[in-house]
Amino acid sequence: DTSLRTLFSHLEDEEVTFFADLILPIPVPRLFTYRVPRGMAELLKIGARVIVPFGKNNGRVLTAVVARLHNSPPTGYQARYISEVLDEYPLVTGYQLELFRWMSEYYMCCIGDVMNVALPSGLKISSQSKVQFNPDFDYPELLTPVEEILLTELKKHPALSYDELGRLVGEGGNVPAVIKSLVGKKAVIVFEEVKEKYVPKMIRKIRLHRTYEEKEQLLVLLQRLEKLPKQQEVVMRYLRHVPVQITPSLNQKGLDKSILNQDDELSQSSLTTLIKNQVFETFEVIQPRFADNLAPQTEIRLTEAQRQASQDIMAQFERQNIVLFHGITGSGKTEVYIDLIQQALAGGTQVLYLLPEIALTTQIVVRLQRVFGDKMGIYHSKFSDNERVEVWKGVVSGQYQFVVGVRSAVFLPFDNLGLIIVDEEHETSYKQHDPAPRYHARDVAMMLAHWQQAKVLLGSATPSLESYYQAQQGRYGLVELFQRFGDATLPDILLVDTRQEKKQKTMKNEFSSALLNELEMNLERKEQSILFQNRRGYSPYMQCEDCDWTAECPNCAVSLTYHQRDAELRCHYCGHKEAVPRVCPVCGSTKVRTIGFGTEKLEDQLQIIFPQSRILRMDLDTTRAKNAYQQIIQEFEGGQVDMLVGTQMITKGLDFDNVSLVGIFDADRLIHFPDFRATERAFQMLTQVSGRAGRRAGRKGKVLIQTTNPQQTILQKIIENDYRGLYEEEIQERQNFNYPPFSRLIKLTIRHADKAISLQAAERLAAELTDALGESRVLGPEEPLVERIRNQFLFDILIKIEREKMNVKAVKAYIQDRINDILTDKGLRQVTIVADVD
Ligand code: ADP
Ligand code: ZN
Ligand code: ZN
Repeated sequence: DTSLRTLFSHLEDEEVTFFADLILPIPVPRLFTYRVPRGMAELLKIGARVIVPFGKNNGRVLTAVVARLHNSPPTGYQARYISEVLDEYPLVTGYQLELFRWMSEYYMCCIGDVMNVALPSGLKISSQSKVQFNPDFDYPELLTPVEEILLTELKKHPALSYDELGRLVGEGGNVPAVIKSLVGKKAVIVFEEVKEKYVPKMIRKIRLHRTYEEKEQLLVLLQRLEKLPKQQEVVMRYLRHVPVQITPSLNQKGLDKSILNQDDELSQSSLTTLIKNQVFETFEVIQPRFADNLAPQTEIRLTEAQRQASQDIMAQFERQNIVLFHGITGSGKTEVYIDLIQQALAGGTQVLYLLPEIALTTQIVVRLQRVFGDKMGIYHSKFSDNERVEVWKGVVSGQYQFVVGVRSAVFLPFDNLGLIIVDEEHETSYKQHDPAPRYHARDVAMMLAHWQQAKVLLGSATPSLESYYQAQQGRYGLVELFQRFGDATLPDILLVDTRQEKKQKTMKNEFSSALLNELEMNLERKEQSILFQNRRGYSPYMQCEDCDWTAECPNCAVSLTYHQRDAELRCHYCGHKEAVPRVCPVCGSTKVRTIGFGTEKLEDQLQIIFPQSRILRMDLDTTRAKNAYQQIIQEFEGGQVDMLVGTQMITKGLDFDNVSLVGIFDADRLIHFPDFRATERAFQMLTQVSGRAGRRAGRKGKVLIQTTNPQQTILQKIIENDYRGLYEEEIQERQNFNYPPFSRLIKLTIRHADKAISLQAAERLAAELTDALGESRVLGPEEPLVERIRNQFLFDILIKIEREKMNVKAVKAYIQDRINDILTDKGLRQVTIVADVD
């Protein structure tokens, strides 16, 4: 018991004032001490949410979490009172508080930032300013006409928000100003209305009274109803859906009323009578958010190779806490995971299964649901606040022992984890870039596991260099599975030289004749194709042929992307939109053309080349709506679609029977991206998307990669599925240039609206860090690829810290101190410095 009274039971109540150190959801690097009102002391527990006033004149209301309870007042400021306790039982566990602290230190951010991202917003309260008529007001003052109107309205209502008042007075009335004046005249009172955001959605259900779960009683009842055939029929209907004697637990779950009164009035009135006579009872439950009516999975039998992999993993867990599971695409890693999850659950521990954002929305969840039913929670960012809160509370209550989720699922309140699976562990979407904490879910998962003595399984067909290196060093276990399920084999990968085809004029728009041939044959065979271009929109540039003007974003240093469907130019960095110019804004020429191509253009051209075919596109633009992604997948799976064009969204986790061809565009751009991980990423992306082809026995897949340079060694390695070769080559590079896994990287980004100030701050910071850490460890300041975003000028400093030689923690603390110096320097005010670790 962590309540205050217990902690300080040896002290006389009257003499102590209790204090609580709270995590506030604001970017200030410390805890805040508040006073605990007397009556609250019994209730308050570490990990509970509370509501507190904050800011000048207590103008803000915040949701905070109790991190520490004690009896010493803070120094330097007068502690304010906590206004309310929201949880009788803590919603944040001790493990989580530890996690928040660790993350704020490791990722160089504020603990409040961590909490802010960790708690689903449904667990935070919302507050709104409301205005109320002051009943003591008796018109001693003159009122303006607008004030009169507002006051008349306010008298009619208990209270109104600023928005509501705004609507009443319409345009022209400056509500805040008028209210301010009314407050001055003591005509109205302004207060903060605080609400919990989470509202469960309840549905009414019906069940047979407990008495009739007993066979004897039920028979008596049915006999009694012989004379009332309609009522008997209703009870029989119920029993057909819910056989109560076999499973009373099913009876307790009840049934939707609508299933019983099948739209005839007679059964409705019979049901009403049955309820009145207490044969049935009605009750309310929180509506389940996830389909709970899927047919259960018929027993899956692991193949010999899969069973062996599962056994090896378990055996290695005896010695290792982390095991890397390297299994090629289509080898059935998911089935192996399911086997391991079942074992962990049987051992009474919790399980967390992490998946990248996109992969999670589809097929795999359905597969898991068939096995684990409603014992499994799903945590996804496309879910509403309420759904996320329910999963959170379900973990606390024990309803969900197993959660499958995206990276933010590492924040769920687990306290007894036995196994964490990080599927597609190489995926970059496990890293959060904005806002802080800029964490990597794989690495956080390892910390969680470490604290809770759980095992971690990292799975991938193309492991990250970092993880594979650790396995090579013997720090992780390693289990490999190089056989596709069934008799399916990996697809044949062919390179198409687009430079050659251009010379011979056999290209049709962006399509090589080789690819067009294959697409045509695939259409004839009624097999499906996937086309991958990692760029959305119609084309990335718009340029004037006469004067070379290009359309650029006014706020960022990038060209605007042309979106034909919406006839717009858009900035993919800041969201700026503008109309497409008919003539060149510089020279007036009408020869304004588009250069380069994105998914939209490919879709367009395909439709012209194959007018009879059915084509779908999957990218950020077509999947904004909540279920859009699933719909595309379902349509494609249903087979009514011949081709799917998409960005990296289509590279992950999709499992279609009928896909036998994959076409890849612009491979060179992926390979030559200026980043030390570019080669690794290109290999991963191309291997993963290739892996979508030929996943069923008897239908060998084919992959065509369009490139201007087929000789590149990385392409050869992709063709040969030579992960090992790629690894050897890349790891050597990393070692030579001291990049991860041989060092830790911290990137500092400095930004300011004035380029000179931004540079000045960056240069000073770089100089200070170079002095302390040595020249070889500090790179920059340098302008990043896009050096201006949202009218802020950016500079990057890259810091490499060797694991062995330096105390990383101390270095981080030192860097943070230097950053704080700059942020408090008057001349450099308003500079923003963002630290991104790893
Ligand atoms: P991976 O994740 O390794 O790419 P999946 O787990 O998606 O591979 O498996 C590929 C396909 O093979 C899936 O459709 C899966 O249902 C099927 N599959 C794999 N193993 C089995 C098995 N033991 N029994 C039946 N089907 C299997
Ligand atoms: Zn021009
Ligand atoms: Zn922009």
